[in-house]
Amino acid sequence: MEFDYDLFVIGGGSGGVRAGRVAAQEGAKVALAEEDRYGGTCVIRGCVPKKLMVFASEFAHAAEDAQAYGWDIQPGAFDWDVFRGKLYAELDRLENVYRNILGNNGVETFDQRAKVADAHTVELADGTRKTAKHILLAVGGRPTKLDVPGAELAITSNDIFHLDKLPETILIVGGGYIASEFAGILNGLGVKTTQFYRGAQILRGFDDETRNLVASEMIEKGIDLQVNTNVVSLEQDGDKVKVLDTNGTTTTFDKVMFATGRAPNTDGLGLTEVGVEIGRKGEVVVDDYSQTAVPSIYAVGDVTDRVNLTPVAIREGMAFVETVFKGNPTKPDHELIPTAIFTQPEIGTVGLSEEEARAQEPIEVYSTSFKPMQQSFAGRSEKVLMKLVVSQKTRKVLGCHIVAPGAGEMIQLAGIAVKMGATKEDFDRTVAVHPTMSEEIVTMKSPVRTG
Ligand code: NDP
Repeated sequence: MEFDYDLFVIGGGSGGVRAGRVAAQEGAKVALAEEDRYGGTCVIRGCVPKKLMVFASEFAHAAEDAQAYGWDIQPGAFDWDVFRGKLYAELDRLENVYRNILGNNGVETFDQRAKVADAHTVELADGTRKTAKHILLAVGGRPTKLDVPGAELAITSNDIFHLDKLPETILIVGGGYIASEFAGILNGLGVKTTQFYRGAQILRGFDDETRNLVASEMIEKGIDLQVNTNVVSLEQDGDKVKVLDTNGTTTTFDKVMFATGRAPNTDGLGLTEVGVEIGRKGEVVVDDYSQTAVPSIYAVGDVTDRVNLTPVAIREGMAFVETVFKGNPTKPDHELIPTAIFTQPEIGTVGLSEEEARAQEPIEVYSTSFKPMQQSFAGRSEKVLMKLVVSQKTRKVLGCHIVAPGAGEMIQLAGIAVKMGATKEDFDRTVAVHPTMSEEIVTMKSPVRTG
């Protein structure tokens, strides 16, 4: 049977664009449909604008620190309009980069929504039908809101980049990546920030010592973190929002942001109708090769709800092309993924937490917390953490956890060693780079805990 295309990709985010581009470079005839902006969550409403906001917010104390280092410099005010204008221009530039990558590689694009009509057919919003030998679902996810009265009054991370002005006060609900990162950003930009988390400590799933330090530093920086607290209802109060919480307290905020999780974008895509299996959270169920229950349909990225990170979606897209267009069946590797959480202070982490490792086997824990030179000289009391979790039996480093300025940059490199299976003794025989913060990762001599 003759198809219009070898591959039709639905979704122009990190995973879809990469898979489409590389398949086209392999000689495949490729089309891609995107209903919103090219670049997807990461580029348009996620990692990229978020990180630029982190940079903006970190200047809050730069003038004071410079003064401490002898500079005659005065603190000034943050201008949201100036920043937002530059942010929009940068996102326009990046969106063009993504469009051009596709165009330059001969991928035909359709700026409209697409859904699956059958195992080899895609239907565009204008009613046109296109056939393809393979269909790749790369439609990502979206933020969800809590099911409470007045939820429509809350914003999500999608809206935060488009505010007309910065609020004076904000409540952020949730204790995950997005909630904790935006609490730091908004607090840094001068917004009086409250964070509610329903459990005992934010950043569930991360190493306990790591999240305890981050939470205490966030409180130290001025965030009103209220754990064991959740929202009961929201109510309009003039141009503000009145919040009733689970402690029975009512507080009024300028804005309320829900960062209580994300859901895969599978609604209305025609998937169950054609036999694609959908899981409990609405995710597309795939096998190790990203293939769905319909052999001609594959899925990568957040829509599969495996590890929801841009570089992972890209890897999954590359493995899909390798498998389907290069005749080399390849499973994306989801083991030992290094990652950064851009809280303030920042976290870099790879491998098992102390708690996960201890549940698995006898371990040694090497950990040190100290005031870094640059901040300490400026009179700041903030602390950093360097930590290794080591297997007693194999001596392998099972987990590396860093809380420090630049921790994301550090963990990329430590991640190579951990991925290679480095032992504690391999770390030890690496000479320290002095004077740095990260030298502590190779100079910790005695375990602080064993067993
Ligand atoms: P997460 O799943 O990380 O966090 C959701 C938070 O909302 C958790 O604290 C969760 O609590 C809480 N929550 C869930 N349901 C409720 C409820 N009914 N009431 C109150 N609280 C609730 O999701 P995010 O939206 O923060 O991030 C989504 C994903 O995006 C991440 O998992 C990550 O993969 C990715 N991401 C990565 C970033 C990075 O790499 N730096 C940055 C941003 C996002 P509980 O813990 O108790 O379940």
